[in-house]
Amino acid sequence: MSGRHSRRDEATDARDRLGRIAREWDRPAGEALRWRPGIDVRSLDCAATPGWDGGRDEAEEASAGQAVELADLQERLFAEGRTGGSRSVLLVLQGLDTAGKGGVVRHVVGLVDPQGVMHRSFGRPTPEEAAHGYLWRVRGALPRPGYIGVFDRSHYEQVLVVRVTGLEPESTWRAHYDEINAFEAEVAATGTRIVKCALFVSSDEQRSRLAQRLERPDKHWKYDPADIDTRKLLPEYLEAYQEMLERTSTDVAPWYVVPADRKWFTRLAVGELLLDALRSFDLGWPAATFDVEAELRRLAAT
Ligand code: AMP
Ligand code: MG
Repeated sequence: MSGRHSRRDEATDARDRLGRIAREWDRPAGEALRWRPGIDVRSLDCAATPGWDGGRDEAEEASAGQAVELADLQERLFAEGRTGGSRSVLLVLQGLDTAGKGGVVRHVVGLVDPQGVMHRSFGRPTPEEAAHGYLWRVRGALPRPGYIGVFDRSHYEQVLVVRVTGLEPESTWRAHYDEINAFEAEVAATGTRIVKCALFVSSDEQRSRLAQRLERPDKHWKYDPADIDTRKLLPEYLEAYQEMLERTSTDVAPWYVVPADRKWFTRLAVGELLLDALRSFDLGWPAATFDVEAELRRLAAT
């Protein structure tokens, strides 16, 4: 009982703290980061912190506040899903090697109860996956009601790596834009709030992160020699990202452009976007489906 109350106080405190810290956002993160025509990712400042007036210390304090609110809202969503609700959230993370997708999963998604998370990372399709259409494995990984789904890479690889490395002819990958929009509209219509984040790391920062992976034995497991080949194709990838944003940012599934040279900002920004999605649900707690007083009497009699 007291545990439940202190938990709620904690959440209220976090919201108060966020209220103070909200001043550091000069406009809502969703507004500052949302993709809009005219943004050219080929000339993006990857060290920028759009919308955020504070520095790193303030961001870390804000992240701590997010943690409590995220955990609270995720539990409410989970409870709703357990009691007949149909809503869920899907966080899609796209970004080149070292952009920090894994860090977001660890530091942001890691703040909520793992029971309520359906995480999936998408690599090169397995033979079984390749035998199906590219949306097959994605459909199988969609969050069930009450869950936060997280895609580390996604169906968008079909218009990124597939395009850039020529795995499919242009007429085939080009058709994916419309297919993906139709697919996401269908997913959104079932109650899934889709939040798509494209993380952009600069070429210099990527070099230094790859160098770190090579210099540190504890990071070797993350290094893939193929990352250098991908790096050489950076202009082609940015062109593919640009067109992806132009063609697939929709009202039901908008893209957010997240500069990723400062890890603290990437995490703060994605945390805020995820929170916004959860806040928009205006989540309460499901009403008891039993007579609480009667149950208390029954319990007392045991
Ligand atoms: P990582 O995220 O570091 O584990 O790397 C996963 C790799 O899988 C990346 O090089 C992706 O480009 C690749 N990948 C993901 N989806 C596809 C796909 N549909 N077709 C080909 N390669 C893919
Ligand atoms: Mg990799």
